[in-house]
Amino acid sequence: MSKIPTPAVKTPGLFRGEVVRSERFSPSMQRVTVSGADFAAFSWQGYDQWFRLFFPLPHQDGFVLPEISGTKWWEPYLALPEDVRPHCANYTVAEFRAEAAELDIDFVVHLGPAGEPEGAAAIWACGARPGDPVALLDQGLLYECPHDASEVLVVADESGLPATAGILRSLPRDTVGRVIQEVPLDGDRRELDAPEGVRVTWVVRGDATATPGAAALEELRRHTEVAETGYAFVVGESTLATEGRRHLHRSGLPKKRITFSGFWKSERAKSA
Ligand SMILES: Cc1cc2nc3c(=O)[nH]c(=O)nc-3n(C[C@H](O)[C@H](O)[C@H](O)COP(=O)(O)OP(=O)(O)OC[C@H]3O[C@@H](n4cnc5c(N)ncnc54)[C@H](O)[C@@H]3O)c2cc1C
Repeated sequence: MSKIPTPAVKTPGLFRGEVVRSERFSPSMQRVTVSGADFAAFSWQGYDQWFRLFFPLPHQDGFVLPEISGTKWWEPYLALPEDVRPHCANYTVAEFRAEAAELDIDFVVHLGPAGEPEGAAAIWACGARPGDPVALLDQGLLYECPHDASEVLVVADESGLPATAGILRSLPRDTVGRVIQEVPLDGDRRELDAPEGVRVTWVVRGDATATPGAAALEELRRHTEVAETGYAFVVGESTLATEGRRHLHRSGLPKKRITFSGFWKSERAKSA
């Protein structure tokens, strides 16, 4: 058991709580609901609000958090001895119910080359039980649409599906644009609360050996009518993010009107 004390003082933006439930939301997505007294003060901004998620690893019998001050978390996190350092990964607010102070997180369940469960966060999510401790460090939004944007384009693989869903739900109802959303399986498609003028294209990958994001990128490359006064948000596997941005810029969209983020990096894309 660790002798390092967990700070008793509340750090702004840090929410400590516990797992309420964990259930399979769709074939490739595990939804974990967390709550706790801190979450009564959680300020949900909608869109793609994201956070750093901390949880103890299976071999750790305590839950030690870094002494975070302001936006500085990385150095204090790394300063924790490895045997007590919790796992940290980035996730998006899938839903927040203020009345119950409950926050949902959707984890992509991904498998390694031999079909084994992969990723400490995904594995944790699938085995999470009521009462398991967690902490979230709120990071706000990546989505940064200029006020004068004439159209909005959102492109994502499944790791960006919670962001896509949150953005669509939050958009002004008169927004026009397009969404290209890749998912592993047909059953991973879900109801999206999109404004009427936003056309949603689901790209179902099907092939379990294909690199996630490649099919969405292929579809995006067919999308060449891009208004230079628009805005694009492209997230997911890092090739989708960087090549998606390149395509949009070549099609006439200024770089400052594109938010792109490699949410993760595929081993398959690295070796391709
Ligand atoms: C701002 C932001 C918001 C994000 N929101 C979400 C979210 O809401 N839901 C979500 O599922 N992810 C989200 N991600 C992506 C998530 O942080 C990464 O997928 C992360 O790597 C998962 O951590 P892990 O511990 O499971 O796997 P890691 O230990 O980081 O990786 C282990 C192995 O799994 C592979 N891997 C990681 N992620 C995937 C994946 N999605 N598909 C296939 N293989 C993968 C890696 O290439 C590596 O080989 C977000 C990322 C960012 C930056």
